[in-house]
Amino acid sequence: MVIKDIIKKQRDYFNNGRTRDVDFRIEQLRLLKKTIKDNEDKILNALNKDLKKSYFEGYETEVGILLEEIDYTIKKVKSWAKSKRVKTPITHFLSRSYIHPEPYGVVLIMAPWNYPFQLTIAPLIGAIAAGNCSILKPSEYSNYTSEIIYNIIKENFDEGFVAVIKGGREVNEKLLNENFDYIFFTGSIPVGKIVMEAAAKNLTPVTLELGGKSPCIVDKDIDTKLAARRIVWGKFLNAGQTCVAPDYLLVHEDTKDKLIKDMKEIINEFYGDNPKESPDYPRIINKKHLDRLSNLLNSGNILVGGETDKESLYIEPTIIDNVSWEDSVMADEIFGPILPIIEYRNIEEVIEMVNSYYKPLALYLFSNNKLNIDKIKGNIPFGGGCINDTIVHLASPYMPFGGVGSSGMGSYHGKASFDTFSHKKSILKKSNLFDIKLRYPPYKNKLNILKKLMK
Ligand code: NAD
Repeated sequence: MVIKDIIKKQRDYFNNGRTRDVDFRIEQLRLLKKTIKDNEDKILNALNKDLKKSYFEGYETEVGILLEEIDYTIKKVKSWAKSKRVKTPITHFLSRSYIHPEPYGVVLIMAPWNYPFQLTIAPLIGAIAAGNCSILKPSEYSNYTSEIIYNIIKENFDEGFVAVIKGGREVNEKLLNENFDYIFFTGSIPVGKIVMEAAAKNLTPVTLELGGKSPCIVDKDIDTKLAARRIVWGKFLNAGQTCVAPDYLLVHEDTKDKLIKDMKEIINEFYGDNPKESPDYPRIINKKHLDRLSNLLNSGNILVGGETDKESLYIEPTIIDNVSWEDSVMADEIFGPILPIIEYRNIEEVIEMVNSYYKPLALYLFSNNKLNIDKIKGNIPFGGGCINDTIVHLASPYMPFGGVGSSGMGSYHGKASFDTFSHKKSILKKSNLFDIKLRYPPYKNKLNILKKLMK
């Protein structure tokens, strides 16, 4: 079916009003959960084929996280979808005011390849909860997972309600030429700009979940072994192809040697003497990205790793020291298993360094110093992050997840997903018992009374 026909089908479906019924939305969320559970093995297998993700990692970061989000949404959606009564100004005495959340209509969800299942389905949960019809566009790079998404959605959902469109850049361009009621995009900054420009033509509202260079700051006087474990886990998960992975380390000069020693040991503990043999270490998505990453290995001094294998799309977990801001590895988001280290002496220096770059999607700080924690929290803009951990802030349905500035706009997860996909309609229901004449012309001699009321 051509894109225009699918959009038409979805508009008709939306206009027949079924999605406005919250029980219908809950039923569809249950169906989504069942669909994922019934196809769990196929999904984990596809993730393994696309990125050599272990089943554990696939379940932890893609399947399990979605099942939890669906359960939470099913539990809460009735209360989120209710009209909420709010205060009414005294000038409208005896009237009532409500905020009524309503679905936008037909939404487009475009996803990247790095968490290809999770990042396609997580926004869908919010879109369904809010009562929208959705067109999903998974990435062409994660072929196997995109195929599974296409098949399981087609088999279980009415195309008028949820449809999947496969394809590459030309298909994206065609989609972006159409008029949607909302666009939810996850991907790179350059494509984010293309999406926003296309959306502007129709004044379509957008959420942009983008990337950037997320710093990980390591203070002095900390447990370096614990920090090393959490940093190595966050950096080399999915072989570094995680939007919120620590991109680079800023380490206090007193901590650096000990932290490096501990990170070396932890890499060995996690992935063994030869990470290439480890069933738990993923691969780079394709040759283009492997070449891009290989070119970054000529920055600084390689302390750990550095081995690459084009055939098997392998890059060893790598740590690079003596890196400067002029090196290629510091120019853009790394998005791979390469961790550069820059040393610092005081926290003010750190604030200046991070703020001289674009606003990051995530920031991590390992510190026990309350003053330093407050300084970093209060003086650096970033999407979200952790103190004394990496990545895990995004796994909470209780906090909105999203970027700021060039790392994105808007947010989702939990209630934030429902809000993102809902328009808040404000309605004032006026009482007919009184009709105060002050506001009506002629205004002669009324200004002084108005000034007393509106001061
Ligand atoms: P990408 O921007 O290349 O692709 C994302 C989507 O856009 C895909 O569906 C792709 O088909 C489509 N696309 C690609 N080129 C296009 C074009 N010229 N016109 C229209 N559509 C186009 O991103 P990617 O390489 O798939 O993913 C990596 C990026 O995504 C990284 O920058 C990463 O930080 C970011 N990311 C962000 C988050 C987040 O939650 N903020 C999550 C994962 C990834």
